[in-house]
Amino acid sequence: MLGKNKLFESSVFGPVPSRRLGISLGVDLVPAKVCTLDCIYCEAGRTNLKTVQRKEYKDISKVIMELGEVLSSKLYLDYVTFSGAGEPTLNIGIGRVVRFLKEEHPEHKVCLITNGTLLGDDQVIRDIEGIDLVIPSLDAADEETYRKINRPCEKMTCKNLIDGLVKFRKTSKTLFWLEIFVVPGLNDKERSISAIRKAVERIMPDKIQLNSLDRPGTEKTVEKADMASLKKIQDSLSDITTVEIVGKFAPAKTPAVSGTSIEMGAKILDMISRRPCTVSDLAEAFGCPQQKILDAVSQLVRENKAVAEEMPRGIFYKLKHHQLAGNIG
Ligand code: SF4
Repeated sequence: MLGKNKLFESSVFGPVPSRRLGISLGVDLVPAKVCTLDCIYCEAGRTNLKTVQRKEYKDISKVIMELGEVLSSKLYLDYVTFSGAGEPTLNIGIGRVVRFLKEEHPEHKVCLITNGTLLGDDQVIRDIEGIDLVIPSLDAADEETYRKINRPCEKMTCKNLIDGLVKFRKTSKTLFWLEIFVVPGLNDKERSISAIRKAVERIMPDKIQLNSLDRPGTEKTVEKADMASLKKIQDSLSDITTVEIVGKFAPAKTPAVSGTSIEMGAKILDMISRRPCTVSDLAEAFGCPQQKILDAVSQLVRENKAVAEEMPRGIFYKLKHHQLAGNIG
């Protein structure tokens, strides 16, 4: 069973079912929550430390040791993914972890989910050389909307973000999917989409993924985009590249998790410490009947360890009195 401290110290989480990546083992390289942005839709709550300074926010030797232990159990995985509650490229040691994975575990594909703000940095480009997939975000291509949605560090600009993405594309051969998180009322109107279109024409991603609110976000005012407006945006960009609307996770080969109800409760707490989940998300992740999960989360709510929040997709469970520790979109 995971002890209370262990739960929040670990840097490797999952495997978790990802809507975009299938079965993904997450690697958190910064503590909750260190980021260059403070997005209004972030599932991990407000940014505590908004910074552009790269340093070893987590001990990289420990991260590598933890990863080695987890991967030695020969898990089925679609990806090992740098993600989490914050910006992974802020950790100056990310290159060491990439090299460890590529040299010691070449059987696994490696993905980086990033807000893209540091992708134009020469050292970051060298650090992540060799990874299989990078998924940066571009939610706005005009300064005003960028500041409203992403609330960046003071000196960061939308122009710098776009120039950095263009530079990365010119320098790197890594597969590149651009995520656009659609926030109704902010970046779904003609003016915003036309600015995004111009940026996309410069970046030329291999694919665009349109995402929208799925779990409780930082600001309660953020709502999920409806399918009609996602389709409209899809149509307006699809002559440039493939545009996908991120859908519900399709169950894959998740190994069934067994154990006592106490062990099951600990595993659920670990999972919801990374991102809020519905009973059905947890049942898919653990390969368990929904009733067994419902019993376990109800017990956690009774014990005051978890709380429920109603969203359009269902009831989400998240940790009580705790800022989330990581997520994979
Ligand atoms: S959504 Fe990503 S980039 Fe935005 S604040 Fe959260 S962790 Fe940072």
